[in-house]
Amino acid sequence: MGVVENIKEVADLVKKFNDIDLNRRILNLENEVLDLSRDKRRLEEKVEELERSLKFQKTLYFCEPFYRAKAEATPYCPSCWESKTLAVHVLFGRDEAGGSSAWKCPSCKHEYYPPRSRKSLIASASLVQEGE
Ligand SMILES: [Zn+2]
Repeated sequence: MGVVENIKEVADLVKKFNDIDLNRRILNLENEVLDLSRDKRRLEEKVEELERSLKFQKTLYFCEPFYRAKAEATPYCPSCWESKTLAVHVLFGRDEAGGSSAWKCPSCKHEYYPPRSRKSLIASASLVQEGE
């Protein structure tokens, strides 16, 4: 029998004495036990969540420019992972301008270009700066 059931039994026994002050104290005690039980459950859930997160973190490794998980083909956004510890898969498609193909994060909207596209983007950016 758990502590909640025990305190309810004691509360039922105490009612037989018709002692208002004792009844009030037992009721307060019952409420405190219920609060503690809820806090305990919340903390257990938090521990489970942290254990899951820790287990997941151990599967991640950095492979420039992304984080990857063992046995998963789709990489994770490094910006979301490093700033908010959020594991967000990036999606492959056309960039915002509809030009180059890029990996895009659906959360922070950051775009990551494949190595070949990066070289041409850097070269075109250099030409723009020289022309200014
Ligand atoms: Zn992101």
